[in-house]
Amino acid sequence: MANYRGIVEKYIGRKLKYGEVVHHINTRRRDNSPDNLYIFGNQRQHEAFHALADAGHIEWTVLKSNLDKFKAIEDKKKKELFNLVQFKYSKETLTECIQELRPKMEDQYPWEEAKDEGDKV
Ligand SMILES: [Zn+2]
Repeated sequence: MANYRGIVEKYIGRKLKYGEVVHHINTRRRDNSPDNLYIFGNQRQHEAFHALADAGHIEWTVLKSNLDKFKAIEDKKKKELFNLVQFKYSKETLTECIQELRPKMEDQYPWEEAKDEGDKV
């Protein structure tokens, strides 16, 4: 059993979803280079393509690898998630720091006086 599904998952950066089918563009099942692999959304589409190509209505190689498109979508999602987590993390850290530092700072810098100074600027 070839591990081409594993190769695809590693390449696009996520597990294949239930139903997603990996097809070998040049029909050589042992050629697992990303350029030779295509993801169909479901088996029905996959079989329909095979039927057309088997009957000679279309060339097998009419398909071009779509792995990079899937990869780009995953990269975008991960970047968005990362930004969200980064923001949340820094916000929480900031709040913690302020709560920790504020009593100490208030000892050193009386806020009422500082506010008066600020009004003049
Ligand atoms: Zn196929």
